[in-house]
Amino acid sequence: MSGKPQVIIIGAGISGLAAAEKLTKFGFHNYKILEASDRIGGRIHTVEDGNPDEKKVELGATWIHGQKKNPVFELAKTNKLIDEQELKKQRKRMTVYVTEEGETIGEDLVDKVWDKLEQFSEEADEFFESETPYPDINESYGAFLQQRFDKFLQKKNNSEREKMERVLLNEKSGECAYSGCDSVDELSLKYFGSYEELSGKHVTFGRGYSSLLEVIKRNIPDEKIILKRPVKTIHWGKTMLDEGTFEVKVECQNGECFYANHIIVTVSLGVLKAHHNTLFNPCLPSNKQQAIDKLGFGTVDKVILFFDEPVLGRDIGCLSLMWSSDKKDLSKDGKIANWCRKMSELTAVYGNAILGWVTGKEALEMEKLSEDEVTENVMTVLRTFLRRDDLPTPVKLIRTRWGNNPSVLGSYSFVKVGSSTQDIRYLREPTSATCSEKPVLLFAGEATHESFYSTTHGAFLSGQREAQRILDLYKNI
Ligand SMILES: Cc1cc2nc3c(=O)[nH]c(=O)nc-3n(C[C@H](O)[C@H](O)[C@H](O)COP(=O)(O)OP(=O)(O)OC[C@H]3O[C@@H](n4cnc5c(N)ncnc54)[C@H](O)[C@@H]3O)c2cc1C
Repeated sequence: MSGKPQVIIIGAGISGLAAAEKLTKFGFHNYKILEASDRIGGRIHTVEDGNPDEKKVELGATWIHGQKKNPVFELAKTNKLIDEQELKKQRKRMTVYVTEEGETIGEDLVDKVWDKLEQFSEEADEFFESETPYPDINESYGAFLQQRFDKFLQKKNNSEREKMERVLLNEKSGECAYSGCDSVDELSLKYFGSYEELSGKHVTFGRGYSSLLEVIKRNIPDEKIILKRPVKTIHWGKTMLDEGTFEVKVECQNGECFYANHIIVTVSLGVLKAHHNTLFNPCLPSNKQQAIDKLGFGTVDKVILFFDEPVLGRDIGCLSLMWSSDKKDLSKDGKIANWCRKMSELTAVYGNAILGWVTGKEALEMEKLSEDEVTENVMTVLRTFLRRDDLPTPVKLIRTRWGNNPSVLGSYSFVKVGSSTQDIRYLREPTSATCSEKPVLLFAGEATHESFYSTTHGAFLSGQREAQRILDLYKNI
């Protein structure tokens, strides 16, 4: 292929890197990646930050969600990146279901409720494929779940009912972390089943998710990636620029400009929501703007406390937090912080550390606090649920602040009440310029994948998809 055309990829997350790798592999070398931050990877971010086992800590993506037909799993397997030991360890450790009163809820009861909840979730999945006009796009998964659950509870006695309601609350918080929403009431019922689960166990990386980036990056020359270049405005398609050669000028925040014929935009839906009006000149077509507004993009954060010794007990892998819905405060030594009630579990990870997930408004609440406050809040939860005053002092805290990270502004996307998979198609549709029939703005990133949105494999495939679009345009050159 000759020196032209020129492509600029905005963002060096997994989708941008996948696009670059594919272009290189097929002999298209005329591209650059402009990345706002000082590292590649975006929402894949592994750190080595001080824990006794020297395990790598994942601030962003942790799991490969499913194996069959998962390109991320394939890459990890071929390159021997999967953590087999962690898998074995997880299988051996048990989960305990504890209330804030320090009482244990029996596994039998929990399993009975999980089975029911799974059945309801499968029923919700079926609305997506069915031809029926209901539910309409304004109905929520949360309302459906509650309605089905209330019916199930009718024949239960009071004591059983109270425990089962706690399991439901726990499930709702867990679903928020999985789907990336603030509340299950935000999730579209009609499109709940549009997210495709891939079969096979969910697995992790031995040397961290970033080892996957190293593999993808092997085929991308270093000089192609320009770090610390936040793009301010993409001027596209009104007139041909630079003596009629290029359709697009990319203006960076530092004033530097780059010219190109095609742009692959991979910034997160959070960044698009906040900045699409200024990021594109002229503005994006209205169907794309509406899709950006309507689709959901929530915050999911991790809070990790490191200890010198195990706090949950050696055999316990997970403390499942069975909060009561009436928010009574049973802590002995302080108030349970509101944000902590959104954590559905505390899991043993990285040797003696424990990990909690927090989502939505509560995650943003946590992000405002100091590290000392976050540490104290989680310790209060531990003391309350474990009924122990003698817990060791944590040696370190790592917590994420994805909602306030200016390069992402949230964590991952979902189909929100009022939106549909058509909005995902509008979002990923390439946009042609008035001065040229060729698509000049191409869109990749997890939120542009119709069935694997929110995942690394969705992001990876979306980058390859847009690279292929460019390769197809010039296949006869
Ligand atoms: C806490 C958390 C846990 C997760 N867990 C999992 C998991 O277990 N499994 C899974 O499959 N997925 C998980 N995900 C989701 C997964 O990480 C993402 O779907 C995926 O990494 C997104 O890749 P991307 O390339 O689409 O976007 P990003 O990784 O966001 O890449 C976009 C890039 O664009 C850059 N950028 C933004 N604005 C500009 C600008 N103006 N100019 C230049 N560059 C810009 C950003 O800095 C970023 O590097 C998780 C995410 C989070 C936050």
